[in-house]
Parts: sequence; C-alpha cells; structure tokens
Amino acid sequence: MRLRNITGCREMIADSPYVADEERLPDAPGTWGERFGNDHPIHIEIGMGKGQFLHALAKMHPEINFIGIEKYSAVLLRAVQRMEEEPLGNLLFLRMDAENITSVFAPGEVDRIYLNFSDPWPKDRHAKRRLPSRQFLGRYDRILKPEGFLEFKTDNRTLFDFAVEELAEAGWTADFITYDLHADPELVQGNVMTEYETKFSAMGTPICKYRIRRDPASEQVKANRSR
Ligand code: SAM
Repeated sequence: MRLRNITGCREMIADSPYVADEERLPDAPGTWGERFGNDHPIHIEIGMGKGQFLHALAKMHPEINFIGIEKYSAVLLRAVQRMEEEPLGNLLFLRMDAENITSVFAPGEVDRIYLNFSDPWPKDRHAKRRLPSRQFLGRYDRILKPEGFLEFKTDNRTLFDFAVEELAEAGWTADFITYDLHADPELVQGNVMTEYETKFSAMGTPICKYRIRRDPASEQVKANRSR
C-alpha cells in the first residue's frame, strides 16, 4: 500500500470517535462488548487498509460488531472519512501493529478473523511478519473462540502457498481452499470485495481463499495455550 504523508492525519485519527489506539486501551481486553453497548459477536479484519470490505460487511450485518485493525494512520484516515460520511454503530477501528493483538483482546473474545490481501513480506527472514504465518496463527489462537474461524483472501499465490503450508505446523485445519474464488459458484456467493480484490480481479488475477479453524487434537495448539 502506498502511503502519502497526510499532514495532521495522526491527530485526526487520535480525535476520531471511531478509532481506538492500543496505547489508550490498557484495559481493552474483555471490554469490547461494553464499548459497543451490546454482547454481539465480534469479527475483526487485520490489515484493513482503507476499510471498504469492513464498512460494507458492517452495513449488511448490524447484529455483529466489527473491528478493523490497521497499522498506518494515513491509510486508516480513508476508513474514518467513510465512517464520517456514513456512520455505523457496529464498526470501530484500532490503529496498531497486529503483533500486539493479544494485548487488546481477551482469550476467546473474537468470533471471526479476516485477513485480506496481506502484505507478502517476500524475504525469508521476514516470514514471521506475514499475517498468516505460524507466529500470527499462535496469536490468533489466543483471542479466537474455540469454534471461531479465520478467512484469508489474496491474489499472491506464493504467499497463499506459504499460508497453506503453515497450517499443519501451527495446528490449524482448512474447511476449504480455493485457488480461484471468483470461478467457484458456491464459494463466491455472498463474497464482499476488498479494495485490492476489486483491483486484482479486474486485471484477471485469480483470487485464492481459505477458511481455517484450529484442529482440536493439535499438540501445537495445546502447547501454545499452555504458554
Ligand atoms: N485489506 C485491504 C484490502 O484487501 O484491500 C488492504 C490490503 S493492503 C495490501 C495490507 C494492509 O495491511 C496495509 O494497509 C498495511 O498497512 C496493513 N498491515 C500490514 N501489516 C500489518 C500489521 N502487522 N498490523 C496492522 N496492519 C498491518
């Protein structure tokens, strides 16, 4: 994602009622229901970008609370502007690095996780920064409900192959894997497009997607939880 240096965007983000910030949320774990004023399920998107996907989903599903996580204020600003144009009571944003995700959600507080078109970090030595890496799956394991699941979409076949290989290592298992989502009449039903998906599918690039959950028998998952 190209970042423009937008003057004052950090301040605009800090002042926005739609944005929480990990530094201002020392007591966040376990309190998201209170913040939304209900006990609806919580679905999060990590690496939300400008928020097209989550804003559309939140509009379609008022019975679910959505939280979009994005590292950069300059990117998040567009999602905030979209909320100012069309406010939704069931959508909030968190400006933070997802590496610290276990410090803002309590164990089992999250019902579903979305990763969309995550940064590929192509160098091997950066593999653990990839959002579908085993290191991140370990973090997701801590905050996701036992029956919760994670969906990942990408145009990047190399990143997707890596993500699929990480599953067994991390103790997760796939409900489905597709290498061409838009050509699958069943899986594409109800698909909500992200900004990157709109761009890449218009260019004819196939979109890969999986849905994964923890394998209850996995030793890795048990070890992760006992740490
Ligand atoms: N999900 C959007 C889409 O599909 O259109 C945006 C995709 S963009 C390629 C990836 C986004 O993830 C960027 O905005 C980047 O800043 C964000 N990101 C990458 N690593 C992150 C991390 N560790 N924590 C939070 N956000 C992250």
